[in-house]
Amino acid sequence: MTPMTHSTPWFSIGTVDAPARCPRCAFTVAAWAPSLDHHVRPCGGCGGASLTWGTPDRSLWISVEYAPRPVASFLRWALEQLDELEFVELLASIEELFLGARSP
Ligand SMILES: [Zn+2]
Repeated sequence: MTPMTHSTPWFSIGTVDAPARCPRCAFTVAAWAPSLDHHVRPCGGCGGASLTWGTPDRSLWISVEYAPRPVASFLRWALEQLDELEFVELLASIEELFLGARSP
């Protein structure tokens, strides 16, 4: 099966030294504080709907508008149905699944 790819970048994953940036405009925040907040907010640079999420060593920025439609629908469902801790557990579970699929 060929993985589906998207020509428009819709997410950015960052590190402590190179924090995640808005996929639309490359805006970032100088001090990326770890956050469990899972609400969609406007980008400080372009105003695009963004979901940002940070841990002490990584950061994630998803452009909801640029995300594949099923991903955007899934995110909206998760944000309505899950609280912050459940959302974090969901992301951790997806990562666990993905890492497990890569190293059988
Ligand atoms: Zn932006």
